[in-house]
Amino acid sequence: MKVIVLGAGIVGTASAWFLQRAGHEVTVLERQPGVAQETSFANGGQISVSHAEPWANPSAPLKLLKWLGREDAPLLFRLRAEWQQWRWGLEFLRQCTPGHTAHNIRQIVAIAEYSRQTLQALRAETGIAYDCETRGILHFYTDEREFAQSLPAAQLMRDLGCPRETVSADEVVRLEPALAAVRHKIVGGDFTATDESGDVYKFTTGLAEKSREAGVQFRFNHLVTRLLSEGTGAAARITGVEVIDDHGRHQVLRADSVVLAMGSFSAQLLRPLDMNLMLYPGKGYSATYRVTDPALAPRVSLTDDGHKLVLSRLGDRLRVAGTCEINGYSRELNPVRCEAITRRTRELFPGACDYDQPQYWAGLRPLTPSNVPYIGRTRYANLFVNTGHGTLGWTMGCGSGRAIAEIVSGRRPDVDFAFTGLPDPTHAGRPNGVPAPAARP
Ligand SMILES: Cc1cc2nc3c(=O)[nH]c(=O)nc-3n(C[C@H](O)[C@H](O)[C@H](O)COP(=O)(O)OP(=O)(O)OC[C@H]3O[C@@H](n4cnc5c(N)ncnc54)[C@H](O)[C@@H]3O)c2cc1C
Repeated sequence: MKVIVLGAGIVGTASAWFLQRAGHEVTVLERQPGVAQETSFANGGQISVSHAEPWANPSAPLKLLKWLGREDAPLLFRLRAEWQQWRWGLEFLRQCTPGHTAHNIRQIVAIAEYSRQTLQALRAETGIAYDCETRGILHFYTDEREFAQSLPAAQLMRDLGCPRETVSADEVVRLEPALAAVRHKIVGGDFTATDESGDVYKFTTGLAEKSREAGVQFRFNHLVTRLLSEGTGAAARITGVEVIDDHGRHQVLRADSVVLAMGSFSAQLLRPLDMNLMLYPGKGYSATYRVTDPALAPRVSLTDDGHKLVLSRLGDRLRVAGTCEINGYSRELNPVRCEAITRRTRELFPGACDYDQPQYWAGLRPLTPSNVPYIGRTRYANLFVNTGHGTLGWTMGCGSGRAIAEIVSGRRPDVDFAFTGLPDPTHAGRPNGVPAPAARP
């Protein structure tokens, strides 16, 4: 079967790899000149299965109110005269109940665990080098109340089989000695030894290269402008993908099936087909520093709860990422946010890096209100979605690619996850925040 994959981030590239492995003839269309140039370019690097709590949780509404209008707030909602944003925001609030949160955590952990196993198998099979560290993730707290509030989530993770261990402040520093300078501020932490970190850009480019060698065609500088369709009801199908190609010409490309993996831009492509994915961009920042004294820089991947930052050692670099601004599609850098990241990193690890030459970057997380991605079928028989991976696209990307290849091939993936548009005997409700009755968008 001929399959076109739209988008070459981690999700589209992993989809292409597994579709090719399943015996399909795969073409990837990407508007950039290479793979992983947008959100999969410089993220926080964490494969954080055991820290999979979504932002939509019972404590979020109050925090959001407190942070409204604060330039350096970790999660900032800038209200716009835009229906899509308001609809998304209202659904986000609805997902903050304890019941929804617990349900969403279960979904995310299931696909994230499946994905980590998939990543590990891919790493062993392909030998792709991506500055991978398998020393776990250490989440440390500087606020007693936040630490106390984290305990039920840690328990839920343990109940779901994730080895998330609550540790004392001394234990935090024993696990990551580079935190010694701020020992007096730390009140406790939790440690998940099975979590990992690595450079998503290096991995995705490596996987694309292996995919190309295996026969996948990548067409870069191709802007997807429209999906052409015919038929209604059960007979509805996609008949072609309209693109502006690398010579500026409009073309229509045809395939038996199409997989949509355009990250934050996926919803815009579906809207003319009357499909309204609950998807909105969440702008996040990262800063990458050159490590100048390896002994002072962390090796264990970290989450600084107080400042909502994640830190990953990528070889001779330190990547620090965080903050989220719900404010449209702009990727411009806000200097206040950039400086706040450098200030905090310098405070945590004085002398570890060259803080005078940071490499700042901003990307758009494709956020669903629940942080549960859309992976599965649509009401167009040959159109599939693999998008909305939000804060955890690196964590869930490889497994999502493997799962969509199974679904396109007519099989149910071997993971207990509420796939979009697939009958699910074990899960009631609408995990993706898709308004009823459109469990299949
Ligand atoms: C600051 C920050 C930190 C993060 N940290 C982590 C982390 O530590 N761990 C984790 O698991 N996740 C993290 N994430 C989330 C993760 O990076 C994303 O979820 C993931 O990269 C999304 O991958 P994707 O393939 O869906 O989207 P993308 O990487 O954005 O890929 C979509 C592709 O589609 C292409 N495209 C879009 N529109 C068109 C069009 N019209 N025509 C052709 N091509 C098009 C784009 O060019 C792009 O290449 C972080 C994100 C940010 C912003």
